[in-house]
Amino acid sequence: MEVKNITVLGLGTIGYQIAMLAAQNGHKVTVRDINDEVLEYGKKNITRSFKMFSVDKGKMTQEEADKIYNSITFTTSMENAAKDADLVIESVPEEMELKKQIFKELDKICRTDTILATNSSALSILEISSLINRKDKCAGFHFANPVALIRSIEIIRSFMTSDETIDTLKNLAIKWNYEFRLVNDLPGQSGRLLCVLINEAIKMIGEGFTTPEGIDEVSRMLGHRFPIMEVADINLEIPYKGLLYLQQEYGDGYRPHPLLKKMVLAGKLGKKTGEGFYKYDENGKKIS
Ligand code: NAD
Repeated sequence: MEVKNITVLGLGTIGYQIAMLAAQNGHKVTVRDINDEVLEYGKKNITRSFKMFSVDKGKMTQEEADKIYNSITFTTSMENAAKDADLVIESVPEEMELKKQIFKELDKICRTDTILATNSSALSILEISSLINRKDKCAGFHFANPVALIRSIEIIRSFMTSDETIDTLKNLAIKWNYEFRLVNDLPGQSGRLLCVLINEAIKMIGEGFTTPEGIDEVSRMLGHRFPIMEVADINLEIPYKGLLYLQQEYGDGYRPHPLLKKMVLAGKLGKKTGEGFYKYDENGKKIS
């Protein structure tokens, strides 16, 4: 299937970046979030990112950026967002019940040939699609953050995903000039590696071995492109929820460290709230 209309659900940390990428590649993009306040926040992120990473760097003119921005439709209505979609990319919070219910809602609204993809970092694709019939048209389409910088998409095939669905997603990645990795559905997905690494790093901080800066120095020394604690601090809720899920699926070895739990319960989520293991200004720039 040729994908023209793309709907992105969730204009949060990564959803707005996916919407930008799809719009930049000429798709008719519609974004849905739950209320106008969140939509406004996401819109600001889009205009700020276009300015900082494209216009200021001479990659496009402000006029071109405005044109792409204006081509995106923003809505709070699921019906309006999804009814004409060829592909829906769901990027709402990492909660199984929420994603299952959204897929159920989409199944009623979308055309029968619409592909339902999830950007979930860890959750089982088969379980997310368990309440609907079109399981063959469901897959993982998992982006890495920052989307514009890490040009790689993980395409996750569930036990029920059809070859046609996989081919459509592969062709889209190729069209966007992104690399793709095809993997099979397994609770935790490749996020399992990152969750475990982040948990171990937080354990080491909690046990007094070193500071977040110390961990990041070690990870640089190990050749990691993005230091571990900076990655964790994008949104600490993600590794926290990922670990809870891994614990549920595979046992206690994956229990989130109490320091991670404390940070999440205190609302110190990192960049998302301005404070985590580091502090950030209103543009998300690390200040200490
Ligand atoms: P986030 O909390 O920053 O954003 C989620 C957005 O979804 C919020 O704006 C929220 O209002 C919205 N939302 C909630 N319910 C909704 C609904 N019913 N319909 C539409 N929107 C709804 O989360 P995030 O960090 O952007 O993560 C989203 C998904 O992407 C998760 O599954 C996560 O695992 C995955 N992911 C995140 C990253 C990352 O670095 N943040 C990287 C790869 C994948």
